[in-house]
Amino acid sequence: EQKKLHLSEPRMFTHDLFQSLKHVENLRDGLQEAIDKKQLYVCYQPIVCCKSKIPWSFEALLRWDFNGDLVNPDIFIPLAEQSGLIHDIGAWVLNRACIDASQWQHSPNASVSVNVSIIQLMDDDFIHILDKALKTSKLPPQRLHLEITESMFADNKGKVRAQLDAIKARDVQVSIDDFGTGYSSLSQLQTLNFDTVKIDRSFVQNIDEGGEAIIKATMFIANQFGSQTVAEGIETELEAQRMDEMGVDYLQGFLFAKPMRNDDLRIWVEKLNSQVISIN
Ligand code: C2E
Ligand code: MG
Ligand code: MG
Ligand code: MG
Repeated sequence: EQKKLHLSEPRMFTHDLFQSLKHVENLRDGLQEAIDKKQLYVCYQPIVCCKSKIPWSFEALLRWDFNGDLVNPDIFIPLAEQSGLIHDIGAWVLNRACIDASQWQHSPNASVSVNVSIIQLMDDDFIHILDKALKTSKLPPQRLHLEITESMFADNKGKVRAQLDAIKARDVQVSIDDFGTGYSSLSQLQTLNFDTVKIDRSFVQNIDEGGEAIIKATMFIANQFGSQTVAEGIETELEAQRMDEMGVDYLQGFLFAKPMRNDDLRIWVEKLNSQVISIN
């Protein structure tokens, strides 16, 4: 019996692999049409001041409704990167986010934080795309933050720095995303000179299993370089309190709000503002 089971395994594996390859192929084909079919939309998640809880920025998070199925960005962003679609999709998100933010009458001073893939950043056209988004939306550049994940910096250090310099020359701010999860060295952090460091939620949510030491070390480094800090993935009051004790500047997580469509964001902020007014 054991032998039989063993023999059947490779076939099952091949079948599963075939199915999943087909699935990926379907997704990639679907993604190609997603912009035209208006299946992509942007949600916004508040990043609030640790002390006052006032929104400081809103992170743009892309959503894909693939014929009724919501596909996780952790799946479709890598697909878009592999297929080169990330250039069109990324430009679309950037433009959409700048236009939305320029019309946020509820939060005229808050910024919008847009995720930029390293593949987009390395593109010679990226700065042109950035300029166009700023010009079309008339968003003050100080109100735009670009979030770049730290992984892969090592391979492209010179080019990354040149692109970041061009971004900073426009008064757009740069955040390093998922800090601590990649391979970047501390000296890179210093030379690249980020405005904001985002502490990955894996450290926040495993604070008692080593996360605390990493957050403290990150805070020390960020303070040395004059960067601001955001802690991601805050789900409980206790987590928020501990981040406050460690001196984190801003917080983001389901404790405050999940990512929302632009209309729901307005309602959320207006409700928040009315609460603040009624307390005073
Ligand atoms: P990220 O930039 O680190 O974004 C934060 C992720 O954490 C988001 O997942 C958000 O929904 C989730 N999150 C926020 N608060 C909490 C919390 O309290 N608990 C938990 N469990 N999760 C929380 P999401 O929206 O699924 O996005 C996943 C990743 O996909 C993003 O990670 C980002 O790397 C990428 N991504 C999303 N939109 C874009 C985009 O427009 N362009 C690019 N290049 N990447 C994007
Ligand atoms: Mg991000
Ligand atoms: Mg992150
Ligand atoms: Mg992440």
